[in-house]
Amino acid sequence: MPETIFSKIIRREIPCHRVYEDERVLAFLDINPIARGHTLVVPKEPAATLDQLSDDSAAALGRVLPRICRGVLAATGATAFNLLQNNGTIAHQAVVHVHFHVIPKHAGEAAKAGGAGLGIQWPARAIDHAEAGQLAERIKALLERP
Ligand code: 5GP
Repeated sequence: MPETIFSKIIRREIPCHRVYEDERVLAFLDINPIARGHTLVVPKEPAATLDQLSDDSAAALGRVLPRICRGVLAATGATAFNLLQNNGTIAHQAVVHVHFHVIPKHAGEAAKAGGAGLGIQWPARAIDHAEAGQLAERIKALLERP
C-alpha cells in the first residue's frame, strides 16, 4: 500500500488534534470538517480499504467506535451523527488508508455555526426478489470463514 498522510500522522511526523489512541487505533479531528467535531477513526494497520483490513484491526475499531462516537456527541452537544466509510476513488475515498468519519449532525443555529454535516442522496429502487435471492446465495457462498 502506498504511504499516505495518515501513516505520517500515526507516526507523529505530522501533527493532528488527537482524541483517542491505543495500540491499533488512532482518532483525530478532520482538518477540513464538514461539521464541528468531525472526527476520523483510523486503524494503525496500513490497509487501503475496509475489505483489506485484518480481523484483529477490524475488531479493535469496532470495540472503540461507539465510545468515540459518544465522546464526539457529548463534546459537541449533537444528538445525531453519521458514520461514513468510503472505499475507492469513485466512492469518494481521497486518502487511501482505511478510516471512519464520525460526523455530528447539528441542527438550526449550531448547523449554521459549525457546519451542516453530511448531505445524503439515497437513490433507492424496488428490489428484484428473484435476482436478490440468487445474489444473496452467491455472497453467502463467497464469504470467507474466519
Ligand atoms: P475520504 O474522502 O478519503 O473519506 O476522507 C479523507 C479525509 O481526510 C477528508 O475529510 C480530509 O479532510 C481529511 N484529511 C486529509 N488530510 C488530512 C490531514 O493532514 N489531517 C487531518 N486531520 N485530516 C486530513
